[in-house]
Amino acid sequence: MVEVPHLPDSVAPLFPDVLRESLVNLRRDLHEHPELSMREERTAGRLHAALEALKPAELHRVGAADGVTGLGLIARIRGRDSGVPPVAVLGDIDALPIQENTGLPFASRNAGVMHACGHDVHATWAVGAAHLLTAEPAAGDVIVVLQPAEETGSGALVILESGALDDAAAIFGAHVDRRFEIGQVVAEAGPLAAAADTFDIELIGAGAHGARPHESADPIVGTGALIGALQTIVSRRLNPAHPAVVTIGTIHAGSAHNIIPGSAKISGTLRAVDPDTRRFLHEELRRITESVAATYRLEAKVELGLGPPPIVNPQGAAGWAREAAISVLGAEAVVPLGTLNMGGEDFAHYMERIPGCFMRVGARERGGEPIPAHSPRFYAAEESIFVGAAVLAESARVASRALAQGA
Ligand SMILES: [Zn+2]
Ligand SMILES: [Zn+2]
Repeated sequence: MVEVPHLPDSVAPLFPDVLRESLVNLRRDLHEHPELSMREERTAGRLHAALEALKPAELHRVGAADGVTGLGLIARIRGRDSGVPPVAVLGDIDALPIQENTGLPFASRNAGVMHACGHDVHATWAVGAAHLLTAEPAAGDVIVVLQPAEETGSGALVILESGALDDAAAIFGAHVDRRFEIGQVVAEAGPLAAAADTFDIELIGAGAHGARPHESADPIVGTGALIGALQTIVSRRLNPAHPAVVTIGTIHAGSAHNIIPGSAKISGTLRAVDPDTRRFLHEELRRITESVAATYRLEAKVELGLGPPPIVNPQGAAGWAREAAISVLGAEAVVPLGTLNMGGEDFAHYMERIPGCFMRVGARERGGEPIPAHSPRFYAAEESIFVGAAVLAESARVASRALAQGA
């Protein structure tokens, strides 16, 4: 039996030893074999087997035309009353291109790939929720979704396009968060994640010998100026009361000490929690890039990629999630987010179509550090699997009960 320390008292009785061990083993196995977005073949196979063992009313794979090799999984857990519209709970399954440095005994065996965002735990708690909802069904059916490719912002659309959630009346998801201790949950109305758009910029000049810069139009110097100028969108142009982030994540140019290259590329991410700020970032990024390029006699190519919109939890579904978290963990466990989260979540795509609530689930062991997600040292404390599973299952039950009563 693997050891799972410190399960909150109210959660522990929900998980018999056999289930506890199988969920911990599942999580460790997923963590040890992380796969990048849209390459989650092994992960999807492992999760399919875990769900199949539960004999759900329906289980299928989505995202591929053959219905067999798709990386998304949909399991339908029967409720007590077929007249109640189904609700959905979701876990994402993909990993990141990061070399793990956690020192965990089940650290990644895939060089340069790591579960640095805790999706190993999210996948496992969705399976755990399927167990709990099989043991104690909701009023209506619950659709358990395992989603690939959250990190690239495309997986939610794969699930939605499959039609699997066309009849879902509510959806719940959550993210591990080491800023909060095990047993703490954020389940509240209002903004919970930011819009996460991408940009790719190429500055095209004229290459030349490094000794004769006057014969070039140097894209490296232009890019240097552009990097500085883009910092002024948030610091000088935007109203400081409106939160936003402009981050340049890659920069590439050149091939040798003495060659001025013909072009240079940068890419990055734009974050905002309201539509006007989001639009403003796009406009300013284009305006500044084009004017800096002109100053340095360069041509600018700007490509904006629309990522997920912000998540703003509506009152109704947030109330269901909050009621569920209180009933599972007690009122003192439900804590405020406290600060705006500028991370993006493609769960927002679901919430454009289905009312829902996205939660944060504490993943820091007592006395542990608040290691940020996407860091090579990030891991979620194992107990978070059980808190997440219990809160998601109960959220589905509370929502389903309210829908059954016509609330
Ligand atoms: Zn992430
Ligand atoms: Zn994540």
